[in-house]
Amino acid sequence: MDRHGDMIKFTDTWISDISPMARLILEDNKEIVRKLKVNWNHEIGFEIQDGDYKHIVDLVKKTCTCRLWQLRGIPCKYVVCALYHIGYESKNYVEHWYRRDTFLRAYKYFIQPSSNMIMWPESNNPPIKPPEVKPMPGKPSRNRKKAKDESRKKKWGKASKME
Ligand SMILES: [Zn+2]
Repeated sequence: MDRHGDMIKFTDTWISDISPMARLILEDNKEIVRKLKVNWNHEIGFEIQDGDYKHIVDLVKKTCTCRLWQLRGIPCKYVVCALYHIGYESKNYVEHWYRRDTFLRAYKYFIQPSSNMIMWPESNNPPIKPPEVKPMPGKPSRNRKKAKDESRKKKWGKASKME
């Protein structure tokens, strides 16, 4: 219950509508933007030159050939570069799962308080027992599995014999 409250309070520390982690990644990407060269087709496509590599950004399909945008849902440095080129705000292109309202929606149901087990009423129903253990299909292993510290002890024993 405390953790639940802490998670809701956590959003009060956010300085924007997207999570601090997503915001930091965007900030880092903004730093790099100045070093990249942009070619825009005056529609939705961009070519971003980064040294010897040229990446393609599509703002409608939400894709970049470096694939980080598709993978992470946060604009990569090439997408940030493309958006900056046309004066768009890159935080609007962050996927909804990093947004404050999505985060709060996940924590909108509260855990209801309950009394402890000794205060629960007695029942006349038969007690619930664990299910019977069934042998699993396949040949059973001939060797017993040893515990981690058990095998270590054996090594110690061997070493002492050799002395
Ligand atoms: Zn990319």
